[in-house]
Amino acid sequence: MRKFSIVPMFTEMQIAQRVDQVADDIAKDFKGQDLIMIGLLTGSFIFLADLMRAIHAHGLILQVDFMTVSSYGAATESSGIVKMLKDIHINVRDRPVLLVDDILDSGRTLQYTTTELLKKGPSLIKTCVLLDKPERRIMPVHADYVGFEVPDTFVVGYGLDYDGRYREVPAISRVEFHEE
Ligand code: 5GP
Ligand code: MG
Repeated sequence: MRKFSIVPMFTEMQIAQRVDQVADDIAKDFKGQDLIMIGLLTGSFIFLADLMRAIHAHGLILQVDFMTVSSYGAATESSGIVKMLKDIHINVRDRPVLLVDDILDSGRTLQYTTTELLKKGPSLIKTCVLLDKPERRIMPVHADYVGFEVPDTFVVGYGLDYDGRYREVPAISRVEFHEE
């Protein structure tokens, strides 16, 4: 593996404050609606857990389910092909859906998952990501709710991994790779 160091970007407290603001926006926008949140595993699980409890604190009730699609594997660059590994179980027909992911990069994952979800006939699909790397976009997608915009760097922590590691770290850092 290449030599690298971990450089802090967002503290646990900064993340908590921003998650609360995003949750407030979502709770207002979906007030009185029977919202279903769908988390994309594995990266979104910590963000989603915090986000749904913050949404609850802002007075909205909801249901949750998860979808797994193929992603980076052990590399830091996507293969470009997205595949469904685990579909949702909940019936989303005629109900509003909030699709939640950790980070929006090329846009392939959100493009693919929204297309798949649309086939199930929800009344509406909105998207929420903790992090957005707009410079990296290949597909014409955007997220309706964004925690933080980040530059074109590889980030870890708060659910995001590097080769399966660092997901449990409460803060978000970028990985700085060193030339050998
Ligand atoms: P996209 O399909 O938009 O290119 O990529 C989205 C997925 O790639 C995310 O769900 C995430 O799993 C992964 N990803 C993209 N950028 C990063 C990053 O900087 N760090 C980590 N750990 N995963 C990333
Ligand atoms: Mg992911």
